[in-house]
Amino acid sequence: MSARLALRPPVFLAVLAALSLSGCYQVPVTGRKALDLTSDVELAKVSSKAFDEIKSRHRRSTDRARLDQVQRVGERIAKVVFWDMPNADWEFVLFDEPRQINAFAMAGGKVGVFSGLFRIADSDDELASVIAHEIAHVTARHVHERLSQEMLAQAGGVIGGVGLMGAGAGSLTTSALLGLYDSTATLQMLAYDRGKEKEADYIGLMYAARAGFNPEAAISVLEKLEAETGSQPRPPAFASTHPPTPDRIVQLRDAMPKALEVYRTAGSRAAAPVVR
Ligand SMILES: [Zn+2]
Repeated sequence: MSARLALRPPVFLAVLAALSLSGCYQVPVTGRKALDLTSDVELAKVSSKAFDEIKSRHRRSTDRARLDQVQRVGERIAKVVFWDMPNADWEFVLFDEPRQINAFAMAGGKVGVFSGLFRIADSDDELASVIAHEIAHVTARHVHERLSQEMLAQAGGVIGGVGLMGAGAGSLTTSALLGLYDSTATLQMLAYDRGKEKEADYIGLMYAARAGFNPEAAISVLEKLEAETGSQPRPPAFASTHPPTPDRIVQLRDAMPKALEVYRTAGSRAAAPVVR
């Protein structure tokens, strides 16, 4: 871990300038600017190791039909996010966890779905809305942002953060990442703030539409989630780390006309004869 450095003011300003130039990225679809001190390549490597560890701790589903469905839907979404994750080595895994209404995605294109998710996401369109939401957390680099914030906090502020950047995000470890995903307990979804959840909802809606899935399924999934969990005193991870469902539905309805337009264009593109 880098020690705090006592820098003279001109150096400090230069460091701040460097941070503002290279420590930033623009979120796809929404265009929001955000902090990122991680290295994409490094995070993908670490995520891949973390994913291997998750796979070793959780039983895989033997339901071939469901696994095929997850892979078929996942791969269609992977195609439309290509330019947002060009280096991804995609892997879609179905875990045998019927009590977990859950799914997650990691940098590098690692996606896990828990079999309990089928309680609320049954059709291809519904499954697509959840997988697209999870992938949107990755392309919007919400994980990068969380890790960057932790790296800054651990290093004792901005100056320490630059030390980490210089070291090529050397402090990124599999265990730090697994800590965020809480894989030792129930593999809860990463707890993001409401703004990030809504951002992932919006981006995911557009991804699903672009991939030719009916975006209206995003609303039916949330309605089923509400019916499934609304009466429980303690909602499962999927619900508890996300903004209240009615809030999310309102935002999705607002964005729906645009999403439907994207969906129709995607549909007619697929149906159109190839003219060269
Ligand atoms: Zn989310």
